[in-house]
Amino acid sequence: MTSNQKALRGRAISFSGNPFERPAAECLVHHEDALILVEDGRITAFGPYADLAATLPPGVEPVHYPDAILTAGFIDTHVHYPQLEMIGAYGAQLLEWLETYTFVTEQRFADRAHADMVAGHFLRELLRAGTTTAMVYCTVHPQSVEAFFAESERFNTRMIAGKVLMDRHAPPALLDTAQRGYDESKALIARWHGRGRQHYCVTPRFAPTSTEAQLDAAGALLREHDAIFMQTHLCENLAEVAWVRELFPERSSYLDTYDHAGLVGQRSMFGHAIHMHEADFHRCHEAGAALAFCPTSNLFLGSGLFQLFDAMDPARPVRVGLGTDVGGGTSLSQLQSLNEAYKVVAMSGRKLDAVRAFYLATLGGARALYLDDRLGRLAPGYDADIAVLDPKGTPLLDFRTRHCDTLEELLFVLMTLGDDRAVRATYVAGECVYDRSRAGDPFRYPARV
Ligand SMILES: [Zn+2]
Repeated sequence: MTSNQKALRGRAISFSGNPFERPAAECLVHHEDALILVEDGRITAFGPYADLAATLPPGVEPVHYPDAILTAGFIDTHVHYPQLEMIGAYGAQLLEWLETYTFVTEQRFADRAHADMVAGHFLRELLRAGTTTAMVYCTVHPQSVEAFFAESERFNTRMIAGKVLMDRHAPPALLDTAQRGYDESKALIARWHGRGRQHYCVTPRFAPTSTEAQLDAAGALLREHDAIFMQTHLCENLAEVAWVRELFPERSSYLDTYDHAGLVGQRSMFGHAIHMHEADFHRCHEAGAALAFCPTSNLFLGSGLFQLFDAMDPARPVRVGLGTDVGGGTSLSQLQSLNEAYKVVAMSGRKLDAVRAFYLATLGGARALYLDDRLGRLAPGYDADIAVLDPKGTPLLDFRTRHCDTLEELLFVLMTLGDDRAVRATYVAGECVYDRSRAGDPFRYPARV
């Protein structure tokens, strides 16, 4: 392979540890003037410019972002790409919202051309928001998965996605069967899992729309393949929790409907997990399963308040990532997710400071996905997935950030007032795939090496 060397220069933040377990000062890495050296899509060096400038390879001129903040790209641990067209739909809670909006919108993905069109918009909106990895629900149609991975492959983004499994309680056009869902998932795994930067995720929508036979088939897929992922929904809404109790009277809890099928383990991501008992948190901790905190969705659908500090209790910490849950969520920007996360946590009498918040959106998400050996940090050996944040991205941000005295204050204002306008550029495996200031189309597929 030809050597492909690059360098970025600017103020930068990263993490060397988990600030929910150790003092923030021990976990946050900050350089006022940093240099990031990249070779073949990976970071080879990260540190103060003054220390590293002499190691710049001949002919490599750093791309300089003097007024920006460089960070590892954001990680979205729960999002539905087919729902982009119905984001911001009025007036319903979860079960009615699914019937009225979601199941109508998702039927259009039987058409591959439609799936291609939406996947194209979705990936661009993620990159515009500085998000470089997401765990994504497609629809029941295998072609919806093909469309998504094909576009992700063109951008060379590291994405985790899968075909939704549903064999009951949805319109006939959106149903598979336990066997068909298994067969279609298996074919998609063979085609996409581990191809470039794509990862497959077994995706039963949630217990009410899968029979026990289908949940068991999902468990079989996990047992039969190494390092594949599992995503589903858990304890989002009280009416949903009551329905699951009716449908699965023999199970001890909602989580147990999944546990019984072998779906609770490492690389399992449960969306929402709002109405949880201590035993549920304990089981997730013990199994190494993760939860996706989706604040804009939980508020928009009126589902409830995720208990972040209970989940992260150092006595039995559960891995937690941050999710947008579009279209239940109202923004693909993880800065906006953090804005709402702060308020959700405040309603429980606690405070989510900016250091912990940015950890959740980067290394915390990577850890929840068991990808923290390659994602979520600016550090040698890590994928060069980088967001360039602009503290002057809006007139109000520009005005407000003049009055910030500390880095923590600046980051907090960025997450409170920022959105995609606070993202200047996004790098994927070292390539600048989005640059707000680029004339014409700000998006660009990386050149094939
Ligand atoms: Zn969801």
